[in-house]
Amino acid sequence: MLYLDNAEMVRRVLDMRSDTVTKPTEAMRIAMANAEVDDDVLGCDPTAFHLETEMARLMGKEAGLFVPSGTMGNLISVLVHCDVRGSEVILGDLSHIHIYENGGISTLGGVHPRLVKNNKDGTMDLDLIEAAIRDPKGGLYFPTTRLICIENSHANSGGRCLNVEYTDKVGELAKKHGLKLHLDGARIFNAATALGVSVDRLVQAADSVSVCLSKGLGAPVGSVIVGSKSFITKAKALRKTLGGGMRQIGILCAAALVALQDNITKLQDDHKNAKLLAGGLNEITGLKVDMNSVETNIVSFLQASINTPKIRGS
Ligand SMILES: *Cc1c(COP(=O)(O)O)cnc(C)c1O
Repeated sequence: MLYLDNAEMVRRVLDMRSDTVTKPTEAMRIAMANAEVDDDVLGCDPTAFHLETEMARLMGKEAGLFVPSGTMGNLISVLVHCDVRGSEVILGDLSHIHIYENGGISTLGGVHPRLVKNNKDGTMDLDLIEAAIRDPKGGLYFPTTRLICIENSHANSGGRCLNVEYTDKVGELAKKHGLKLHLDGARIFNAATALGVSVDRLVQAADSVSVCLSKGLGAPVGSVIVGSKSFITKAKALRKTLGGGMRQIGILCAAALVALQDNITKLQDDHKNAKLLAGGLNEITGLKVDMNSVETNIVSFLQASINTPKIRGS
C-alpha cells in the first residue's frame, strides 16, 4: 500500500488502517520461496542466523534473536531483565507494553509495572523517572526497580520520536541507579529516518531493543530483539518457554532480509505521504490534525463535530 507512484495512487484505494497491513513484495515472495532453511530450534537455520546477525550489526549490538511478534519481543526482553521475582519496571502510561500487550509482563512474568506519565511527545520527564525508582533501602515493603522501558517512535503519541540526547539521558539515569534500559523500537527505523541519525547511535544507550519487521518495513511476520550475547542466550530459552521456538523460520527471515535491504530507505516517503495526508485532512471542515505531531508514518485526527476520539492510519 505504501510505495506507489502518483498514477497508481489515483487508481487504487489505499489501505491506511495501519502499517501492519503491508503485503510482502514480489522480491520478498521470491526470497521466501528460495530461502535456505533448517531447524531453528536446533539452532541451525542459516537464513535466521543471517537476519539476526544483520539486525545486530545495524543496531550496534552483539547478537539478535528472531521472535514471532513485537509483543513477544517486549515480553521476553522485560522478563530477561527482571528475572528475579518482585522486580519492578518503569513504563510510560501510554506505552504499548502497558496498554496493548495484555499485561503479559505481570500475568506471565510476575513483573510489577510502575507507570510514569508520557508527555505529548512520547518522553517521560527525567525527574519523574528518577522519582519512580524505588529506594533500595526500602527494605521489606518495596519491589526492586530493575528496568526502564522507553518507546521510539512512540505510537500512542502519534509516532513522535525520542532523540539521541534524550535517549542517552535515560540511559545515564538507568546506569546511575544500576538499572537496565529496554527500548521498544517497533518503529525505530522510522525514528532514525525522521531524526536523520544512524539507528545504532540512536539505540546506543539501550541494553536491548525490540524491532518490528512487519510494520513499515513491510515483512509479513516477526520482530528481532537485540542485545548482549548473554541477554540473547537467556532470551532464546524464554522464547522456547513461551512457545515461540519455531522450526524452518528462514522462510520468514528471508522476507525480512529483503525488507532491510529495500525498504528502510523508503520510510522517508511514508513520512512525506503522512504529512501530505495530514495537511489534506486538516483542510476538511470538521477535521483537525496537530501538524507538529506528524513526525513519522502515523496520522491522528480529531473529528471536531462528533465525539469520536482518534483514528489512526499510516
Ligand atoms: C506493533 C507494536 C508492538 C508489537 O506488536 P505486535 O503486533 O505484537 O508485533 C510493540 N510496540 C509498539 C510501539 C508497536 O507499535
